Amino acid sequence: MKELTVKTRNGITRTRYRPTWAEVDLKALEHNYIKVKRLAGKDVQMMAVVKANAYGHGTVEVSKVLEGMGVNYLGVATTDEAVRLRDHGIKTPILVLGSVLPEEVRIAKDRDITLTLCNHDILKEIKALAKSEEDRGIRVKVHIKVDTGMGRIGVWHEDALHFVKEVSNEKSITLEGIYTHFSSAGRDEFFTAYQMESFERLLAAIEKSWIKIPLRHAANSIATVDYKRAHLNLARPGLIIYGMYPKYTFPKLIKLKPVLSLKTRVVFLKDIPPGRSISYGRTFISQRHTKIATLPIGYADGYHRGLSNKAEVLIHGQYASIVGKITMDQTMIDVGHIRGVKIGDEVVLIGKQGHHEIRIEKLARLAGTIAYDFICAISNRVPRIYK
Ligand SMILES: *Cc1c(COP(=O)(O)O)cnc(C)c1O
Repeated sequence: MKELTVKTRNGITRTRYRPTWAEVDLKALEHNYIKVKRLAGKDVQMMAVVKANAYGHGTVEVSKVLEGMGVNYLGVATTDEAVRLRDHGIKTPILVLGSVLPEEVRIAKDRDITLTLCNHDILKEIKALAKSEEDRGIRVKVHIKVDTGMGRIGVWHEDALHFVKEVSNEKSITLEGIYTHFSSAGRDEFFTAYQMESFERLLAAIEKSWIKIPLRHAANSIATVDYKRAHLNLARPGLIIYGMYPKYTFPKLIKLKPVLSLKTRVVFLKDIPPGRSISYGRTFISQRHTKIATLPIGYADGYHRGLSNKAEVLIHGQYASIVGKITMDQTMIDVGHIRGVKIGDEVVLIGKQGHHEIRIEKLARLAGTIAYDFICAISNRVPRIYK
């Protein structure tokens, strides 16, 4: 059996025996980054969003590649994610996109992590730290988050000028950036324009007050591709860096390469006469003599249960259907129409084999969810192999 050699967190190489793995094509990542950067233009800096383990691709490996390509900023969701990158020697500025608790301020300061600022608790904590004996003269880098219609974290745009003034007067804070986030980019152009106008109005008022904030940003993947007005001087894409399209019309606008493939191997085969049921709940009953292969992957690996009796996989370069319910650790496919299938044969669940390709966007739709959810769900049990 082909052994999988996997680099673990602390750089130790370890052999994994599981014949289910995700291949991460770092060349495809480079390709996508170049395409996205070119599309945004040279006046727009790049913050690559690498939260949630870089959408399941491996934050450290992905961030190292992006750092090597000169990315200006990395965006993560939590302080933990940022600290992990610093622990692995990443020097690029990192913004925590979520709102943190006061007790996280000190570590952010110590590890040169930029915080999102949108409440007085954090502001108070920074001031208190700066006043304390050992931290005299500290500066914490922040980006203020403005809510223009996402309804999540952020200062309401109507109240933001006041907050900006307050923060800009604070000696212990470097007010490096200000940003907002779209709730319906690509889906509701009127509401997106309303959000953009609210943010632009605020930026104009800030400028009028003689406050200089170097970085101003709003564009997620969708806005990076087709809402130039939101580029300002920094774009903040995630999904497209990993080669997935957030909208079905986007392949016309930008050519991306999927970075992640999901593969496994046949571990069991059996002949099935007509009338036999497959898997929990007996949702599939064979209509003819056929051959069923069992794959060592299930919903605990992130292979969404909603794909039961719906999705197809690739084996011997041909499509084979999933039959019956996907279980926690195993999934059955019908290979009755494919000659010569044997135990150990490679199966592609996401990615290319022969002339065919299975895309995450399509699987997500079949499962009744979105590519974001699907890709993040691929669990830790699946080793990532870097190419
Ligand atoms: C996740 C996230 C992004 C990236 O979104 P994509 O749609 O993947 O490009 C950008 N900004 C914020 C605030 C986010 O939380």
